[in-house]
Amino acid sequence: MNTMRRPIIAGNWKMNKSNFEAIDLVTLLKRDLNDVNDVDIVVCPPFTALSDVKDVLTDSNIMLGAQNLYWEDAGAFTGEISASMLKEVGAQFVIIGHSERRQYFAETNDSVNKRIKAALKWNLTPIVCVGENLHERENNRTFDVVRDHCEGAFDGFSEEEIEKIIIAYEPVWAIGTGKTATPQQAQEVHRFIRELLMRMYNEELARDIRIQYGGSVKPENITELMAQPDIDGALVGGASLSHESFVKIVKNACAIRT
Ligand code: PEP
Repeated sequence: MNTMRRPIIAGNWKMNKSNFEAIDLVTLLKRDLNDVNDVDIVVCPPFTALSDVKDVLTDSNIMLGAQNLYWEDAGAFTGEISASMLKEVGAQFVIIGHSERRQYFAETNDSVNKRIKAALKWNLTPIVCVGENLHERENNRTFDVVRDHCEGAFDGFSEEEIEKIIIAYEPVWAIGTGKTATPQQAQEVHRFIRELLMRMYNEELARDIRIQYGGSVKPENITELMAQPDIDGALVGGASLSHESFVKIVKNACAIRT
């Protein structure tokens, strides 16, 4: 972890939690994380719970994120949610291009690119997910895939725009599988992304951008991951659904900073 970049831990609740459960979870998180000052904390509930969760988060240090958006502002797009709608309910972040969206909902680099544009237009911070699957890793294609995801996602964006985003490196084989990338495997790809951004933009931007790791992050492995010089936080799936484990992850991430 680099002390210049503020760490960020985000919980991706995926399609979990009824509104009652979401309110319970976030009420406990608010209580137990209220003394955390050194780390940005974000929760990303399903769309249906955003508004209720936002109400609970009033006057707290926990920020609200969504899990997806559609790139048009409004119109005949049944089932979709726009960036302006997310903004209105108080979201500040939005996950874009999660591997589950790429795998099950035909998300492509092109649609990821349009979604990032819409998020930035509405002042939402995109958390852009990139990462290889097991087949690609086993065929030594990790760097090619990550390069392709980054170049496709960021095509046509200015430095000022890219500075506002967060990248989440999420090896697909580590998501929800209990198999975490080793800190060294994660660090190697984070460094690669930073070097790529250096070539695409400039050294300062590459140095300052925050890159989270995601893939079976737990209280037991966050410390070692955060100790890596290019890992600035985590995007947490399963372990963000329990108040105890998410609090421990945030506190352990804090501890390494102090
Ligand atoms: C995720 O959904 O982004 C994720 C990393 O999930 P998990 O922590 O469950 O592997």
